[in-house]
Amino acid sequence: MNIENIKTPCYVCEEQLLENNLKLLDRVQKESGAKVILALKGFAMWSTFDLVSRYLQGCTSSGLHEAKLAYEEFKKFDAGKEVHTYSPAFKEEDIDEIAEISDHIVFNSPSQLMRFKDRVLEINPNISISIRVNPEFSSSPADLYNPCGLYSRLGTTLANFDESVLEHIDGLNFHALCEQNVDALEGVLEAFEERFGKYIKGLKYINFGGGHHITRKDYDVERLIEVIKAFKIRHGGVDVYLEPGEAVGWQTGYLVATVLDIVRNGMDIAILDTSAEAHMPDTLAMPYRADVRYSGEAGEKQYTYKFGGNTCLAGDIMGDYSFDVPLQIGDKVIFEDQIHYTFVKNTTFNGIKLPSLAILRKDGKLDIVKEFGYEDYRDRLS
Ligand SMILES: *Cc1c(COP(=O)(O)O)cnc(C)c1O
Repeated sequence: MNIENIKTPCYVCEEQLLENNLKLLDRVQKESGAKVILALKGFAMWSTFDLVSRYLQGCTSSGLHEAKLAYEEFKKFDAGKEVHTYSPAFKEEDIDEIAEISDHIVFNSPSQLMRFKDRVLEINPNISISIRVNPEFSSSPADLYNPCGLYSRLGTTLANFDESVLEHIDGLNFHALCEQNVDALEGVLEAFEERFGKYIKGLKYINFGGGHHITRKDYDVERLIEVIKAFKIRHGGVDVYLEPGEAVGWQTGYLVATVLDIVRNGMDIAILDTSAEAHMPDTLAMPYRADVRYSGEAGEKQYTYKFGGNTCLAGDIMGDYSFDVPLQIGDKVIFEDQIHYTFVKNTTFNGIKLPSLAILRKDGKLDIVKEFGYEDYRDRLS
């Protein structure tokens, strides 16, 4: 593939890298006995679901739209795949359709469960019902991504757990991690079992949520397998689910942009045809600095530039990067690892064009699977 010919901005997901991640996740399934489902929140490039559905057991969704995507675009490849739907609070107007297309429904509170359980079972007698609990174990790297932080609305704490839900549920869910290794999971499990372990007997499954950075190089996969196996043994062979999002899309591709202009104000500033705010939102929200191919830290190589987006937001800045040769207008810039939590969060802020979506096939062919234009901006407004 020739990067120079790509119309930018464009996300490029490499099929081979995605499959490598899926194979590793599948090894976890096979060796630990857990089921792994994709959290659509982090990665929802459905044109890859043919491939993803060959390895993962289903999808986890947060509400009606993600559930529909899982049902229509994932389950179509295999009716045996599962749609799990959780929402911090389900709405009356959505619940019937959600019940119809979901295999599992996860309530966030005893009040939501009691309110909707009969209706859901009437519509779909085979649906599994569970409740999300808050293990009150926090080790998340940032408050924005900490589901167990102070005043968290996500999951029911033990103090608010109503034992009368037990006769209605098949499982328990927790989600407490963010980009973490297995040692953090062990901490969560200890807290979870201390509080809720007494309720596991008789349940069909426990869902360990997401945030497991399984496909990161330093992740201790062997230990994860051991931890899951030991958990299952402690609890009479109960089924275990993992629902990673980020780990599926981790390091599977990049965002390609073009240098539109280079201006000077105290330093060289390159203006790109993309946006941190609209296209790489976690760089501002987390925040973190995305790697750029062939670049170093500011000052590390001879020519340093501040990279800015093509919106009028002053803070639409990706960071400072240095290169061995001066940048030219028209040069391509490649932001690494931009396939998770990017296009699922994109906005048309400032009317800026949404990046295209492309898949680099294993044979080297580049398929542009989606392009956006003015209509996508207009149609979201009125
Ligand atoms: C966000 C989320 C996930 C996926 O988290 P990752 O960090 O992308 O692995 C899984 N389950 C729930 C309930 C979530 O909110």
